[in-house]
Amino acid sequence: MPELSRTGERVFRGIPVSTGICRGTVLVMGRNNDCIPLRSIGEDEIPGEMERLHQALVVTRQQILEVQRKVGEAMGAGDASIFDAHLLVLEDETLIEEVSRAIHQKKVSVEQAFSQVAEKYAATLGAIDDEYLRERAADMRDVTSRILNNLLGRQDNTLRNLTEACVVISYDLSPSATAQLDKKKVLGFATDIGGKTSHTAIMARALQIPAVVGLKDVSAQIRTGQYALLDGYNGLLIVNPTDQTLFEYGQLVRNKVNIEDKLRDVEDKPAVTLDGKQIVLSSNIGQARDIMAVKAAGSEGVGLFRTEYLFINRETLPTEEEQYQAYREVAAALHPHPVVIRTLDLGGDKFLTHLQVPNEMNPFLGWRAIRFCLQQTEIFRAQLRAILRASAEGNVKMMYPMICCLDELEKANELVEKYQLELEAEGIAFDRNLEIGVMIEIPSAALIAEALAKKVKFFSIGSNDLIQYTLAVDRLNERIAHLYDPAHPAILRLIQMTVEAGLRNGIWTGVCGEIASEIAMVPLLLGLGVEELSVSPPFVPRVKYLIRRTKLSEAKELADASLKLNSGVEILARAQEFAQRIAPSLFENQS
Ligand code: PEP
Ligand code: MG
Repeated sequence: MPELSRTGERVFRGIPVSTGICRGTVLVMGRNNDCIPLRSIGEDEIPGEMERLHQALVVTRQQILEVQRKVGEAMGAGDASIFDAHLLVLEDETLIEEVSRAIHQKKVSVEQAFSQVAEKYAATLGAIDDEYLRERAADMRDVTSRILNNLLGRQDNTLRNLTEACVVISYDLSPSATAQLDKKKVLGFATDIGGKTSHTAIMARALQIPAVVGLKDVSAQIRTGQYALLDGYNGLLIVNPTDQTLFEYGQLVRNKVNIEDKLRDVEDKPAVTLDGKQIVLSSNIGQARDIMAVKAAGSEGVGLFRTEYLFINRETLPTEEEQYQAYREVAAALHPHPVVIRTLDLGGDKFLTHLQVPNEMNPFLGWRAIRFCLQQTEIFRAQLRAILRASAEGNVKMMYPMICCLDELEKANELVEKYQLELEAEGIAFDRNLEIGVMIEIPSAALIAEALAKKVKFFSIGSNDLIQYTLAVDRLNERIAHLYDPAHPAILRLIQMTVEAGLRNGIWTGVCGEIASEIAMVPLLLGLGVEELSVSPPFVPRVKYLIRRTKLSEAKELADASLKLNSGVEILARAQEFAQRIAPSLFENQS
């Protein structure tokens, strides 16, 4: 329940995932159809519900004709004709009659009747083994969600046509929708579900859009047009903020400007500890156009290139040539700094709509990342060849995600060797000494780090996944977010094991998960022996500021002491105390 003050201000508390403060008019986006409120109606309400149905069909028809006109002007009549199928759904008498029957017989609201009948139709069409009919199921769902949005007075489920800047509230946002957000129009966003290391949250941080997730049913409690303030530092959404609240937040924003001035001072300085240990501080990126942000942030190259974003938000797979151009562009622009390209990590919360990937009960434990690539060898081949080719033009390194056993590493390496031979035969250049590493993000990989270390040139700890797999806590599930504990003693031990196995075998260990940018965790990770930190570009300055204020010998003491503790709460408190002592100004915006 939100906290309601006498002044009408309502405060919703969620999980802060992207820092910053914004305020503005709220836009509540349409949710999934399964979020339709259940409402029984009386006999006397039936005519009114039928009239609402009629009105919604008329308005929806006008909207579709308008979209069709715009698409026709921009792309030609051929592309616009796909909307004919949408218009036909509106004229489907059998469907409309069945909705009417459900309203009369079951005495339920028109939206409830419509969503149930339309979903039944779509499911029947979708199950038929005929591509044409399956497409009609997609049309049906598309039109249904438009009609439901109109019935519920919700905005169209797209963020691309925003005309006014607003704070977006929704049940959920997919990583692909987030990647397309226009920062000028979306001041910030808040969602009912989600966790700190969901890819939606990661995208929000990269875009520097304030975001709060896990606000339970906030999207059902707020209306489009209300005024709200979003606090991405403390995870608050404040609807109808009072003048006092706005004044206090003005102060917070001024503090933030002061901190940013301090951080700007370290931009051109090296990431070196007080006792002289050079740390590689690099950036996490998702596309070639992020190069500018990497350079502006003052980081040394890229420690994680999430290549999935080349594959999503499109209808077809990217070709080898297209991928090569993207990888080459990044490698050449950042040369001589390294660019660690991670091979495709599809699955989990990142999907391709056009690939027929079956629904899975546990997608994060399923057909994901290297598991997918080792079976889809044509897709993998195009990517590996593209990466190999790009290695001729920069300091490229490559790593495999989600390695759980030695066998997977060996199989992937065999494919790399095969494609190297292919390129050689074709006379195409590549770097024969391309360094290959693995991500340590499954506990089994940390436990066999000694064996893996003998076959790779580096480790990169994917803490987002390592935490979810070690603690069995779904990284997207807000109900168990309190158990998602980066400072859990088990996580510290797995990091320690990995680093030590690496050192014994002469290879370095980095961290590219979100903990690498958490203020309290940075000195602790350095103390554990991590030599590279890769973070979203906006966080590079603050991580550098922390590194430059850390004395490695003290950080080692912190790590040793932490490894003796049995509770994540105690470890975090100690790490926080350490970080606060060396960099108090970084804590000023946290309440
Ligand atoms: C991780 O798991 O920490 C990681 C960096 O990979 P991703 O977040 O893309 O799964
Ligand atoms: Mg991962």
